[in-house]
Amino acid sequence: MSDIQTIKDRIDIVQFISEYIQLKKAGVHWKGCCPFHQEKTPSFMVQPDRQFYHCFGCGKGGDIFNFVQEMEGLEFVEALKLLAERAGVKIDTFKSEINKSEKNRILEINKMASYFFNKFLTEMDASQKARDYLLERGMKMETIKEWQVGYIPDQWELLIKYLLKKGFGIEDIVSSGLAIKKDNANSSTGKGYYDRFRGRIMFPISNVHGDIVGFTGRVLIETEKSGGKYVNTPQTLIFDKSRLMFGLDRSKMEIRSKDSAVLVEGQMDVITAHQAGMKNVVAASGTALTIEHVKLLKRYTNNISIAFDTDEAGLKASKRGIDIALQEGMNIKVITIPDGCGKDADECIKKDKQIWFDAVKNATGIMEWYFSINLDKLDLSSPKDKQHSAENILSEIIIIPYAIERDHWFKELSERINVDIDTLKVEAQRIDNQNNKLNYIQDTEEEKPKNNILPVKDRYLLDVENLWAVLVKYPNLFIKYNEQIKDTLFDSTWLLAIYELAKTQYNDNNRIDFDELGLKLSEEIKNNFNILLLQADEFYNMEPEKDLERTFLSILKRVEEGNKKKNISKQII
Ligand SMILES: [Zn+2]
Repeated sequence: MSDIQTIKDRIDIVQFISEYIQLKKAGVHWKGCCPFHQEKTPSFMVQPDRQFYHCFGCGKGGDIFNFVQEMEGLEFVEALKLLAERAGVKIDTFKSEINKSEKNRILEINKMASYFFNKFLTEMDASQKARDYLLERGMKMETIKEWQVGYIPDQWELLIKYLLKKGFGIEDIVSSGLAIKKDNANSSTGKGYYDRFRGRIMFPISNVHGDIVGFTGRVLIETEKSGGKYVNTPQTLIFDKSRLMFGLDRSKMEIRSKDSAVLVEGQMDVITAHQAGMKNVVAASGTALTIEHVKLLKRYTNNISIAFDTDEAGLKASKRGIDIALQEGMNIKVITIPDGCGKDADECIKKDKQIWFDAVKNATGIMEWYFSINLDKLDLSSPKDKQHSAENILSEIIIIPYAIERDHWFKELSERINVDIDTLKVEAQRIDNQNNKLNYIQDTEEEKPKNNILPVKDRYLLDVENLWAVLVKYPNLFIKYNEQIKDTLFDSTWLLAIYELAKTQYNDNNRIDFDELGLKLSEEIKNNFNILLLQADEFYNMEPEKDLERTFLSILKRVEEGNKKKNISKQII
């Protein structure tokens, strides 16, 4: 059996795709909203027996390899590496191609560097200070191993030398972000390059699959030359911090089973929370919450509790992400750490982990929280202040996609500031118009989304495919209308091959078995045929056979007419 088939057999396609979107069982297949185009009613199907997916909305489909390539923007060999590792399959074929991919090489470099940093921290005498620092901050030795926390001493070429010795190329090491190239660098001698991370505690950052894609380095002893307190891997082929959530690879299943995610500020907060036993905790490391982060989290839950920087500056930075989450209909809560119990999750847990657990449990809904920060200290006798505070709240209310919920908040606001509800609605409309104008300006500046709507198939081919979708559901119709179903009806379509196999089968055995027939198809036709079977299950499953026969006859008529028209236009040409 080929490596690819082994991988497909070992990975459950439903489970795998469920890590990206929420799927529900629907008969023999699974159904969900397509991740490749915008939709509200699900038309994305996954067929576990035949190991493929198909979207009836945008036409995208294929096997697990196509899915992960499309979803993660990977080349085939990159998808192969990812899936092979997940399936525990050692690849013999494609090996040289896998190494040809720059992304794969950078992944390997990161893995090796992480191993080096962790080994250095846990085993070398030179790391005593770093170990003391972490233990003092309450990090256990087993946590250090589990999260592969590491250390690199303050030298210029330690990591570069190690990686070169392991056989990696200097240009790849630069591309991984771990080395910096000087102007006078010489790639053949390896001179003129230096380590980006020096004298730092190293936190590896993984993507959602658990591959290490970059690092955050925290300086151990701050000096004038040490640069910033935190240094991150720069943007690379595999590292984009606006699309990465620290800890998500370890938390995703817990987030799904708890149906809630806790969002904290930094890596230490995540690690400390996990160590304390709260395992649905992630961080948007080194950046404010982005739309991409929200999309990532939405794969697993609709409930997010946020515990970072709810002061004005921090809130402003994350507001776009929070607004997007609200627009997506997600429930956002704000975690407030009581005064005197630390400024972040890490400090709070160290003080008393029960306080942190309670704070998470008692998190306030984001709307209540907006009400509270805008109204608690408001002087109701000042019309200007009233206007200003009401504007802040109204611009949040109008984002909520649900009318009843919006109405609830209009009423609440009306009572709190003693303003007529209709006046509030008029004002909300004004703010909405103004925002739309602003959004319009922003949207035209941003990259336009790719148009991935299904190319219009010709009407005739659609009819032919529909005809066969009915036939595979009710093969008896093929026998009953054997005389009318002629090869000339399909002569320019892929279904001619199916027709011929079916005809032979019928002539030889006096019966039709489409499962058996499917085994004889070439790879390309088999894909089309699988989609046809899915279509049959999806659209012609519930109809009683009598209705189906009527449907069949009307489609057959359309096919005959379509075929006639085609032949005429061919003659004219
Ligand atoms: Zn789609």
